[in-house]
Amino acid sequence: MKALMGAVAVLALAFSATAETEWRFEERMATHDLLAVGAVGATFLEGDGIRLAFDTSEKGFNCIGIENRVTTKPVAFCGEESGRAGFWQLTFWKDGCQTTTLTIDNLVSCHRAAKRDGRTIIFDWCGLALGDEEDDVDVRATVTLTSDGTAAEWRISVVNRSKRWGLAETHFPLLRNVVKPGEADVLIPKGNWAGRLVKSYNGGPQVGGTSLRYPTSLGAQIPTCAYLLGGAGLQVTTLDGRGQVKYFEMPDFDFCIRYPCPDQGVPGTANAPDFAVETAAFSGDWWSVAKRYRAWATRQKWVAKGPLATRADFNRQLGNVGCWMKTDWKTASPPQVSNFMARAMSALPDIPLGLHWYCWHTCPFDNNYPEILPARPGMGEVVSWLKGKGVLVMPYINGRLWDEILESHAAAVPSTVKNVDGTRFIDKYGGHRFSVMCPTTKPWQQKLEALCDRMEDELGVNALYLDQISASMPAPCFDKSHGHPLGGGSHWTEGYRELMQPIREKAVARGVALTSENAAEPYMDSFDAHLTWFCHAYDDVPMLPAIYSGYTVYFSSVSDKNDSLDSFCAQQGRDFIFGCQLGWNDPWILDDAHREHLAFVERLCRERIAHKDFFLTGELLGELPTPEGLPTVDVKWNRIGMYYDDTRFRMPAVFGAIWRDFEGTRHYTVLVNISSDKQTFTYGEGSERKTVEVAPRSVVSIVVEAKSPRQ
Ligand SMILES: [Zn+2]
Repeated sequence: MKALMGAVAVLALAFSATAETEWRFEERMATHDLLAVGAVGATFLEGDGIRLAFDTSEKGFNCIGIENRVTTKPVAFCGEESGRAGFWQLTFWKDGCQTTTLTIDNLVSCHRAAKRDGRTIIFDWCGLALGDEEDDVDVRATVTLTSDGTAAEWRISVVNRSKRWGLAETHFPLLRNVVKPGEADVLIPKGNWAGRLVKSYNGGPQVGGTSLRYPTSLGAQIPTCAYLLGGAGLQVTTLDGRGQVKYFEMPDFDFCIRYPCPDQGVPGTANAPDFAVETAAFSGDWWSVAKRYRAWATRQKWVAKGPLATRADFNRQLGNVGCWMKTDWKTASPPQVSNFMARAMSALPDIPLGLHWYCWHTCPFDNNYPEILPARPGMGEVVSWLKGKGVLVMPYINGRLWDEILESHAAAVPSTVKNVDGTRFIDKYGGHRFSVMCPTTKPWQQKLEALCDRMEDELGVNALYLDQISASMPAPCFDKSHGHPLGGGSHWTEGYRELMQPIREKAVARGVALTSENAAEPYMDSFDAHLTWFCHAYDDVPMLPAIYSGYTVYFSSVSDKNDSLDSFCAQQGRDFIFGCQLGWNDPWILDDAHREHLAFVERLCRERIAHKDFFLTGELLGELPTPEGLPTVDVKWNRIGMYYDDTRFRMPAVFGAIWRDFEGTRHYTVLVNISSDKQTFTYGEGSERKTVEVAPRSVVSIVVEAKSPRQ
């Protein structure tokens, strides 16, 4: 052991910073002091744009600093915290038992060594003991500079020689004190648009939950986050093309990816993550984060069918929808729906409408899944009439649950998700208990396919909404008879891809659009559009459209009917510039009391239709900075969010975005005035500077030829 330690000390000296580099640190705006790191003989991995520091082997190679050198003045993230693990933690289960656990970390006694191999540092921890057993586990972590020297990819592998212990979870990379209280803005991958930019981040309470499961709208719909110190940032992303379950753990100022392993805790296993976690230095703001991730994400399997402009299976009628209507629970009978839609078509003439039809069935809502048929008498006739008018008619069905009250439930039990103790995984809605179904099982796949067949054949609908699939958390399933790895892994998202394939093929052949709830990314290829219905917050940033514009459709700008006109226009205007298909309000939107609300929505919808080659198939490039002195509007959104106590804030009276068309030949600048006064808006630099008058509650569009394609 001593010989190994000596080798590491020599290695650390070789990697220590040069005097010139040390001088550069003195000029940085760092919150963390890397000077001290050099003094204790840390190991450095150094690129042109990023520099990582790891403590001595005695201190477990804790990561004690990540320096952004992309910006003029280097900025440091992550800090030392003596005595706490700062690289990885591993949790094992004994004999497959979830309650007999043991956690080891990079500080436990063992042989440790580090060596350099080109752009990689290889860290080894050998002969770790599990309980009374000795020399059972070896851990190897590698950190590799990317070819451009601005990012590092972290990987971990584990060898487990124990016959009784199995690897259950990894925490890797484990970073301490990424930023200090109040000094940084943090981009958290949560909320309706998969991004909340928390200014001057002060820790957990602002976040309303710090353990974000991916992929679900209740956690993270995309797997990237960032810390920003002025114009310098650190982005952390899991580069996992299989869409496996993982958690972004962001308690206060620490960070790690927690990964439930495939065959979780099964004795003798050690299925560590098979993907890299990237830490990237960047300059700019959250748009840089979105676009870096877009470059990787649009090469993954969930967008393998290509952009909407060329995607062969995309439902064009859905792409053409100008505004969405939705029935509420009390107005869903066929006569009520036909009256409601007649009013909608009269109020919004020539605007293609979509109808999301809830409670079309004879059973109460949130009952009888998946045996939700029969429909209320007369539904088929109303569907036929609406289709004749060009309406996309989209009833609700559930894509995840089996109601325990159904006689058929007993026969479905083998296909339900099982907890580690063999009990069924249960969801409760409205006092009802539902078994969550495992998407890898043939009986469930066939059951859902049969339901879709009947909806399309018997009712003749031209769209179907499958609730929960791209919203709900993957349930860890431990049923050995299902043939998938137990617990963690990719089988949930891949199971749904397999489940949806025949449903999608038939839907495409029949001209039926398919949608689902919220927008967790791994499900994109199975659907035409995603319902972005969660509450909206002042600190939302449009990560989803910034990443996936041109690759899918987001719809729903639902508001509370008691929102003031200013507040309503603020939300509609913001969703509109994000590229969202507007609407999905209940029938109140057609009432006389809300005539001005509807008039504003109509204006935006017509603008979207006129510029569909940007909003549907183009790319959202960025937002316009707010000019100094621009008036603001008081906003209060009444929809009570799941994360927000106070929804009052102020928004600029005018805001705007820039889009690019699919060919990259034209740019589209769009400005929305949400206020009741005429406004003047100035944007652009130098000779490009423009001043535009924007009438009250109106839109201004400016289309220009791009200077060069794709710019
Ligand atoms: Zn299963």
